[in-house]
Amino acid sequence: MEAAQRDQRVFPITGVVQHYAWGGGVFISNLVGEKHGGKPAAEYWLGVHPSNPSTVHTSLGDEPLDRFVAREPEFALGTMVRERFGNLPFLFKVLDVAQMLSIQVHPDAEQARAGFAREERAGIPIDAPNRNYRDAQHKPEAMVALSEFWLLHGFRDAALLQEVLASVPELTSLGAHFNGNYRSLYEYVLEMPQAEVNAMLRPLVERIVPAYDDGSLSKYDPDFWAARAAKTFGPDGDLDPGLFSIYFFNLLRLQPGEGIFQGAGLPHAYLEGQCLELMANSDNVLRAGLTPKHRDAAELLRLVRFEETVPKILRRSAGTCALYEAPVDEFVLEHCRVREGDRHFVVSEGPSIVLVLEGSGTGWEGAHQFGLQRGSAFFCCAGAVLQVQATSALTLCTATVPGV
Ligand SMILES: [Zn+2]
Repeated sequence: MEAAQRDQRVFPITGVVQHYAWGGGVFISNLVGEKHGGKPAAEYWLGVHPSNPSTVHTSLGDEPLDRFVAREPEFALGTMVRERFGNLPFLFKVLDVAQMLSIQVHPDAEQARAGFAREERAGIPIDAPNRNYRDAQHKPEAMVALSEFWLLHGFRDAALLQEVLASVPELTSLGAHFNGNYRSLYEYVLEMPQAEVNAMLRPLVERIVPAYDDGSLSKYDPDFWAARAAKTFGPDGDLDPGLFSIYFFNLLRLQPGEGIFQGAGLPHAYLEGQCLELMANSDNVLRAGLTPKHRDAAELLRLVRFEETVPKILRRSAGTCALYEAPVDEFVLEHCRVREGDRHFVVSEGPSIVLVLEGSGTGWEGAHQFGLQRGSAFFCCAGAVLQVQATSALTLCTATVPGV
C-alpha cells in the first residue's frame, strides 16, 4: 500500500447487487441509489467473496475489496483475524424477498471442506449448475428483519407436526412415515417418485389455490405459502416436493428488529420481507425444493439435522447500540441508532463493514471526511475509529469479528 494511504483506515465501499428472480423491485434500488432497468434486485453483497467482491474507493483509485485486503492483510485485518482466518471471514448482505426462496441447508465446516475437495477431484467446474460446494467454508447465517418478515425455520416439534399432518386431508397418510422420526418422513417425501408427488399434492393444490386467490387464507396458515409456492413453481407441470416442507417446518413471522440464527444442518427458507443477513464468507447451499435450481436430495439428506427446532428469536436490547450475537467466531452484528445532532464513534478493533440504513450525517477518520446517507457503506481496517455526526437520525449496522 502506498504511504499516502497509511494514515487512512476507513474507506467508502460499493457492494454488488444480485438480480435473482425472487428479488423485489424497489427496496434495494432505493437503498443503494441504482436503477436496475426493471430487473428484480434480490441481494446487495458487501464483502470479499471472490464471485462478487465489493469495490473500495481510495485516494489512489478504485479496487476490488478482496484484492485490497490480500495486498496488506495485516493492515486491513489486524494480527488476530489475519492469523485465524487469513481473510475477511464474513459476508454482509441486504435481502429483498418478494417471492419465496428455495428450502435450503448449509454444511458445517468439515462437510464443506470435504464436499469442496470431492467436487474439485471430480472436476466439476466451480460455476457448473450441479456444483454443490463453491468454496470450502461453512455458512452459518444470522438475519435481522428490516420489515415484517416470514420464514420457515427448522422442523416443528413432533406433537405439532403430527397435528398438522392429521389436519391436512391430503397429507394424513404421511403421519405413518413420521411417528416422531424426522429422517424417515423427510427421506420419504424427498425420494418419492415425481408421479407420486403429483398425485399426493395435486388435490391439495386444487383445494388451496382458489382459497389463496380469493384472499381467505392467513399468512399464519401453511396453506397460504403452499398455494403461493404452487403458483410460483409450475402450477401446471410437476409439483415441487418442497411444498411438503412448508407443513413440516416452523412458520415464523419476525417483526422489524427481530433476528434469528441458522446454523449448519438447519433447514430454512425465506418467504417474504426485507432483512439484513450476515454469514461466514461462503456460498455453499444445498436445496430441497421451491426452486428451479439444481437439487441434490442425497447430499442434502446427509447434511440435514433431523431434530425439532425451538426457534430462538434475537431481539434488540434498549440503548443506542445493541449486538445480535451468533454462536460463531466469524461475525457479530451491531445495530446503532444515533439521534439527530448526536455524535457517535464506531470503533473497529478488527475489520468491520458499516452500512447506513437510514438518516444522514458526516463521518471523520483523522483528516478524512465522508458523507453519510442511506445506503453508504464503509470498510474499516483493524484499529480504525470512525467518528459520526448525525444530521438526521442515523441507523448504522456494523458487521465485525467478535472477540478481537
Ligand atoms: Zn440460508
